[in-house]
This record gives sequence, structure tokens and C-alpha cells, in this order.
Amino acid sequence: MSYVDEVLELVKKKNASEPEFIQAVTEVLNSLRPVVEANEELYRKNAILERITEPDRQIMFRVPWVDDKGQVQVNRGFRVQFNNAIGPYKGGLRLHPSVNLGIIKFLGFEQIFKNSLTSLPIGGGKGGSDFDPKGKSDREIMAFCQSFMTELSKYIGADVDVPAGDIGTGAREIGFMFGQYKRMKGTFEGVLTGKGLTYGGSLARTEATGYGLLYLTQELMKCHGESMEGKTVVVSGAGNVAIYATQKAQQMGAKVVTCSDSTGWIYDPEGIDVALLKEVKEVKRARLTEYAAARPSAEYHEGRGVWQIQCDIALPCATQNELLIDDAKQLVANGCKCVCEGANMPTTIDATEYLQQNGVWFVGGKAANAGGVATSALEMSQNSERLSWSFEEVDAKLQNIMVNIYHNIDDAAKRYGMEGNYVAGANIAGFEKVVNAMLAQGVC
Ligand code: NDP
Repeated sequence: MSYVDEVLELVKKKNASEPEFIQAVTEVLNSLRPVVEANEELYRKNAILERITEPDRQIMFRVPWVDDKGQVQVNRGFRVQFNNAIGPYKGGLRLHPSVNLGIIKFLGFEQIFKNSLTSLPIGGGKGGSDFDPKGKSDREIMAFCQSFMTELSKYIGADVDVPAGDIGTGAREIGFMFGQYKRMKGTFEGVLTGKGLTYGGSLARTEATGYGLLYLTQELMKCHGESMEGKTVVVSGAGNVAIYATQKAQQMGAKVVTCSDSTGWIYDPEGIDVALLKEVKEVKRARLTEYAAARPSAEYHEGRGVWQIQCDIALPCATQNELLIDDAKQLVANGCKCVCEGANMPTTIDATEYLQQNGVWFVGGKAANAGGVATSALEMSQNSERLSWSFEEVDAKLQNIMVNIYHNIDDAAKRYGMEGNYVAGANIAGFEKVVNAMLAQGVC
């Protein structure tokens, strides 16, 4: 049996109740087969695959808090510190009822390779809780965040582990957690990223994931002799990633004709009005029906459907498993040339394979949405220096990072005879750097 297959068997046996973690490990290890085969003796002797699939530690804890009725509530908190071979653990905190250990481990495992791809010194980790912030008062959110951080503060630090936001954890939650960390430790340090601008946050962090997605997409197009100018782009989502992806695509001369939310979608052949979209989503927090009501050129449709619109480039920016096999077939039939993922895992495995087999340039989220965590790492650098960089400085660094990511994943795929397979290229490029650091640091 090959080394990859042996370790996959072992991972399945040891983590049988964690399907998402098994799925993530299977996807990554399968795409690493050529690298592992080329270095089999060295990797086996050093148990590289056994070590990289076993977190350094996984912390689970009780989070008791008092709701507005005076009732004590209990949630479960998690922090999985997966691998710190190349830097302090870094990864978001997800607050959502679906959170469990397997999901946090899957996200933490993927984060190792994404963070490595940024070329910045950050290891992989992830955390969160099964707490549901929806419908909670500000006081309840604060009570939860303070209790969560009271325990988490024992395990993190600016040089140890630097959590960030994720689903359910935005600026408000990061602020409450940061305040509690300060009370517990008595130090003002860059222990969290995604902070407000008045207390150590970075300019351009809000825009970073969407802008970064477009910097990478533009480089990919350029390397295939194309440009963004005049291209028709289909975007899903209407949140942070989608809004800033749309803005940057339009600045590059493309026309974005769709957006979507959890209830419906917009087709606007004149091009999405970003100012109006921000007003509807960021200010009023309303449905997209309000966009259509204010914009005569726009059509609103219930349900899902953006992928049926003719386009040159498709950017899924909403959520996981939102681009399915039939959508992939429709995109190919309509002549779509390029799909780059703004969201995490929006394209199903069969849809990804269909797109790749039909000549669509496909870049997965691990590489394409890494601009968010890269800019979080730039926030860490600013905190260490006790300086704040200008928007232009952060944006220029982000652009450079995304262009480099594209070339690194492209080169890695070519080195192993898989030219154009950017999914494998991303896994290989991310993996190689971490493994070299692990080998250099001995058995630990
Ligand atoms: P937001 O919560 O800001 O926006 C998500 C958008 O997707 C919302 O418009 C939401 O609709 C929509 N949406 C959610 N679920 C569905 C669904 N089932 N069908 C259709 N639309 C849906 O999140 P972000 O923009 O921050 O994140 C989007 C994705 O990008 C996630 O996968 C996230 O993990 C990933 N990501 C984000 C980064 C960041 O820096 N923000 C960094 C890296 C990855 P509604 O308005 O109705 O809620």
C-alpha cells in the first residue's frame, strides 16, 4: 500500500466521527501523491504525513454565560492549534450552531496550507463555538465573548496563537474578546486580528479578501494572454467578499452582472451598482429586493441561479457547496473561461473536476481567498512595529502577495507535470514549505 493510502487509512480510523476532517485530508493527500512518491523514504522515516494530520493540540472547553432573562447558558468552545512549523498559529473563530470538533479540525488543517501560501510566517489553527449569535442582544454577545476569552486567553498570545474573525465573529465580537484578553493578561498586544482601526486594526483588511481575489484572477488572465478589461463577471454572494470583489473587478474594467444572498439573486445587465449594494447590505442590512426596487435595470429572482448567466469569469463568493455539477455544466456551455473561489469550498468536488476537465482555469479558495489572512498577518506586523501603514501600502503588499501566490501554485503544478491544475499546485506549494520547516526542526 502506498504511504498516502496508509496514512489515509490511519486518519479514517482515528477520526471516524469527523467526516469533514476526513474529506479535507483525503482531498489534500490525494493531490500530494506525486510529491510524496518523489520523497517517500524521507517522509516515511520522519512520519511527515502522520504528524501533519495530527494537530499539535486541540483544546475544548465549557463557555458558561448568562442570558438576558438571567438564565445560565452553556456552550462548547474550541481551539485547534494544528501546526506552527512556520509561525504562530493563525486562523479564525467561527461562531455558528453547526460548529463541532471535526469542522474546526477540517478548517484548521486547510489553514496550514493557505497560510503557508501567503509567504508570511503564520502557522495553522482554527477555533470557535457552537454559540449562535443570531438574535442575541449586544449584552448577551458580550457575556459570551468575555466568558469564551476568559478560558481561551490561557492558550493564545501575540507570538503563540493569533485568532481572527470568521462566520459569526465580526468587529463587534473581536472588540469584546480583545477587551477581555486585556483584562485577563494586563497587556495590550496584537493577540487578535480584525480589530477596529482605533485599537490596532489594519487599513484595507475589510477589502482584502475581495481585492486579493481579483489581483490573483487578473494575474491568471494576464498569464493566459487575456485581461479583465471588458469581461463579463458573475459573482455570487452580497457580503464582505462579494462586495469588494465586485468593486475591484469593476475598477479593472470588467462588468459584474450578478450578486446573490440567501434568499435570491440579482441580474443587472448594466453592471452592479456597488454603492447601492453597500447601502442595501452594509447599512440597511436588507434583502436584495431593495436593490432591485432602487435600480430599474435590475431583475430580482427568488432562489439560486447566478451560474446560468453568460459570463467570461465566475467568482463564487457566498458559501460552501454553492456551485454544483449542473452549474459547472451551464458555465462551460456558456463559454466561461475562469472560476476563482472567493468563498471557502463553494464548488463541489465533481463540479471542480468537470470545470478542470473542460479547460476552465480553476483556482480554489485556499489560494484565491488567501488575501484575507495575508492582510491579517500584515496587521500582526504593524502591531509588532507599533505602527499603522497607509491603505496604499497595505494594498500594494496584498497585490504583491496575490501575484506571487499565483506564480507559486502555477510553478508547483508544472514541476509535478500537472500544468494548469491550480488546486494541486496550491496544495503542493503550501505543503512543501511547511514540510521543509518541519524537517529542519527535528522530531517535534
Ligand atoms: P458574509 O457573511 O459577509 O456574506 C456571505 C454572503 O453569502 C451573504 O450575502 C449571504 O446572504 C450569502 N449567503 C450565505 N449563505 C448563502 C446560501 N446558502 N446561498 C446563497 N447565498 C448565501 O461572509 P463573507 O463575505 O465574509 O464570507 C463569504 C465566504 O468567504 C465564506 O465562505 C467565508 O468563509 C469566505 N472567506 C471570507 C473571508 C473574509 O475575509 N471575509 C476570508 C476567506 C474566506 P445573506 O446576506 O442573506 O446573509
